[in-house]
Amino acid sequence: MSIANTYSNKAWHLVSRPSREQPAGPHNFRLVESSVAEPAEGQVLIRHLFLSLDPYMRGRMNDGKNYAAPQNLDETMVGGTVGEVVASRHPKFREGDRVVGMGGWQLYALSDGAGLRKLPADDSIPIEAYIGPAGMPGITAWVGTTQIIKPKAKETYVVSAATGAVGTVAGQLAKMAGARVVGIAGGPDKCRYAVDTLGLDACVDHRTADFEQQFAAATPDGIDGLFENVGGDPFKFSLRRINFHSRIALCGLVASGYDGTPTVVEDMRMVLTARCLIQGFIVTDFLPLWPQAIAELSGHLASGRIKWRTSIADGIEAAPEAFFAMLKGGNFGKQLVRLG
Ligand code: NDP
Repeated sequence: MSIANTYSNKAWHLVSRPSREQPAGPHNFRLVESSVAEPAEGQVLIRHLFLSLDPYMRGRMNDGKNYAAPQNLDETMVGGTVGEVVASRHPKFREGDRVVGMGGWQLYALSDGAGLRKLPADDSIPIEAYIGPAGMPGITAWVGTTQIIKPKAKETYVVSAATGAVGTVAGQLAKMAGARVVGIAGGPDKCRYAVDTLGLDACVDHRTADFEQQFAAATPDGIDGLFENVGGDPFKFSLRRINFHSRIALCGLVASGYDGTPTVVEDMRMVLTARCLIQGFIVTDFLPLWPQAIAELSGHLASGRIKWRTSIADGIEAAPEAFFAMLKGGNFGKQLVRLG
C-alpha cells in the first residue's frame, strides 16, 4: 500500500491577515485536506502527535516588522510539533523515531531534517514536554531567569502569566534559586495552583478590582527580579515597585494585543532612579545554550522538581479556537493540540 493511499493530511492555512476592521480570529484560517506524499531521497515523513500553540503565532499573522518573517498566506501555519517518523529516506532518521520540530498546524509533515531533533527513546518525561517545559517555552523561562534576572536567595521575583507555559517554569526556577516568588495570574483557580502545586510564595489575581493593593501587599519588600510575560496592568504595577538594581526580563506583551497598540511605560524615571536593567530577549538568540537548558529542564521534570500541566484541545480541527482562547487566558497550563 502506498503512503498516499494510507495517510491523508489536514493542514490549517493562513488565508487572510487581521485588520483594524476585522480583528484576528478563526476566520483567518482554512483547513485544507490533501494526500500525503512519499518522502523523496533525503526526506522523512512525520506523523504529528501534539502541536504547540504559542502567542508568537499571533505576531506571525501580521505583515508588519517583527523579529521573524510573517507567515506566508495560503501555506501551513507555523508551529512546534512532536511526532514519530512513519517513513524515512533520510540517513539520520528511522521509522519509529520520536522527533521534535517545526512541523506546523497539520497532521503530517515532510522534512529534509533541518531543525528536526531526535528525542530520547526513554519515556522519563512525556513526549509533549519537548514542546512545553523541556522545549521552547521552558527554555524561554530558563534564559530569562538564569541569564538575565539571575535571582538571588531572599530576593523578590515576580512572574506574570504565572501558570502559563513559560511562567510555570520561570517561577519554579526562581524558587530553586532561593528567591521569594510572587505570581500574577488570571482567576482564583490559577492562583491557588501557583501556590499549592507550583510552590510559589504568593499569587495575585489580576482580574480583581483591588489588584494593585493586593499586589503591593504581596510584595512588601519591592521587586528585585521581574519576568514580564504580559504588559498591561501587571507590568505597570510591577514597575511601580521595582527596587534599586532590579532586573527585568521582558519576555512578552501578550496583553497589549498584536494590533499595533503601543505598550506605554508610565514613568521612565522609576527605571532611572532604580538603576534597573530591562532586557528584551528572544529565546532563539540563545541557541548555543539550548542543549544545556534542555538537559537541566528535562532533569527537573523527570525528578518532579518542576511541575506542569496542560490544556489540551482534541483534534486538528480545534486548533484555531484553542489558539485564540489561549491568547485571552482560556488555557490553564501549556496549550497543546492532540493530533495523534
Ligand atoms: P501562556 O501559556 O502564558 O498563555 C498566555 C497567557 O497570557 C494567558 O493564559 C493569560 O494568563 C495571559 N494573559 C493574556 N492576556 C492577558 C491580560 N490582558 N492580562 C494579563 N494576562 C494576560 O503563554 P506562553 O507561556 O506561551 O507565553 C507567555 C509570554 O511569553 C507571551 O507573552 C509570549 O509571547 C512570550 N514568549 C516570549 C518568548 C521570547 O523568546 N521572548 C518565547 C515564548 C513566549 P492569565 O489567565 O494567567 O492572565
